[in-house]
Amino acid sequence: SRTVLWFRRDLRVQDHPALVRAAADGAHVVPLFVLDPALLEPAGEPRRAWLARSLAALDATLQSSGGHLVVRTGKPEDVVPEVAREAGAEQVFVTADAGPYGRARDARVARALEDGGRRLRAVGSPYAVGPGSLLTGGGTPYQVFTPFSRAWLEHGWPEPAGRPRPHWADAAGDGTGISVPDQSLGGVEPGEAAARRRWREFLEDGLADYADRRDRPDLFGTSQLSAALKFGEIHPRTLLHDLREVSSRRPTLAAGAEAFRAELCWREFYADVLWHRPETAREYLRPQYARMRYDEPGAAFEAWTQGRTGFPLVDAGMRQLLADAWMHNRVRMLVASFLVKDLHVEWQHGARWFMQHLRDGDLASNQHGWQWVAGCGTDAAPYFRVFNPVTQGKKFDPDGAYVRRYVPELAHLPGGAAHEPWKHPEGYAHGYPEPVVDHGAERVEALSRYDEVR
Ligand code: FAD
Repeated sequence: SRTVLWFRRDLRVQDHPALVRAAADGAHVVPLFVLDPALLEPAGEPRRAWLARSLAALDATLQSSGGHLVVRTGKPEDVVPEVAREAGAEQVFVTADAGPYGRARDARVARALEDGGRRLRAVGSPYAVGPGSLLTGGGTPYQVFTPFSRAWLEHGWPEPAGRPRPHWADAAGDGTGISVPDQSLGGVEPGEAAARRRWREFLEDGLADYADRRDRPDLFGTSQLSAALKFGEIHPRTLLHDLREVSSRRPTLAAGAEAFRAELCWREFYADVLWHRPETAREYLRPQYARMRYDEPGAAFEAWTQGRTGFPLVDAGMRQLLADAWMHNRVRMLVASFLVKDLHVEWQHGARWFMQHLRDGDLASNQHGWQWVAGCGTDAAPYFRVFNPVTQGKKFDPDGAYVRRYVPELAHLPGGAAHEPWKHPEGYAHGYPEPVVDHGAERVEALSRYDEVR
């Protein structure tokens, strides 16, 4: 018999429960990817480039076991039933999608398949614990990270799925690919094999110091796996399994493993929040913040997007985003705080810019990362806590190396002086802009706007 495996955010063949099920009982599997214009158009160049290369990598993997990826363009509710009919497949297997668009799309596809007497079968999710599975003792969704993380650990997750050796079946693709923009992905390679390689390297070289180094944008202390996780080139279950395994063998890795597990849990937490409250992809999780006074994005917003605010760590982050399609987490928090609290611009404008320019742009992590920083999200940093860009710089980029790496106009300033060009006689010698706002004054302004809605 034949089945279809419709790949979406699961561009891998290992630890893939839906593939295991699709290939069960010796079924021949048609591996399908649908280029859906509704998703591709708003994705932004980095994610389109990542996807194109990840699909090429997946195709190469399939070819090495006698198959090839069938790529079609169109509305999934038209294309998927068509491919299933052509292949004579009764069942289409997918990894469940937890996002608002994906859930609605899958409901449409399931209906269209049913009309032809076929079935959409969802197996697993892009998360260790499926979004929506955990509820508080009172039966309500979690809104606070710490109790969620306790419930998440207690719930646990299955071991990685064994590797199937499917017989691949063929179907006609329509050959329309994604035009791959000439886009830098920050030197990080898309695809399952590259993700696994990076993970092994990180286990060897990065995990031991992860807890100490993960907050330092000047060091290369994080895994850079976010886009691989976003596109499902590696599954968090695999990572969680390996973390337990290495830390039981090498106790010195236990602290790093625990810190890394907590970050994976943030990813799962935000997906869970978005699953319960899909409207928070656009709207405030805490509605009173919608009533606050904000400024329309204008020249200062433009300066923020281009990394020309005159605050070195903010600008370094925004330029890292444009150069590498990625930004260090600590700096994401700072630039988000700066946009909302120093420039008084609503978080949605910044979140949209991030989604267009990040290679790892992910609706749940991004929108809720923004809401958390903006003070209007889950157990958020309280609104009155406003990051000071200079203090943050001196603390997390003590030698100014990160600023110098991304802001050439400050490359001549030694050490921590890169964070305070106004204190250096040569600070503005190479055209670095002066601050667009007075941080102290805008902090007071932000607090007074906050008082109005409190
Ligand atoms: P590591 O430190 O190696 O972490 C391992 C993995 O854990 C990451 O790959 C990621 O999947 C997950 N993770 C780590 N930190 C977080 C976090 N705070 N929230 C959720 N998951 C986390 N992450 C995205 O994947 N996509 C986004 O669009 C995104 N937007 C963000 C926007 C803002 C304003 C903020 C503050 C954070 C955002 N994050 C986002 C979270 C975080 O910044 C990135 O996941 C992280 O920087 C990715 O780098 P890494 O893979 O080297 O992380």
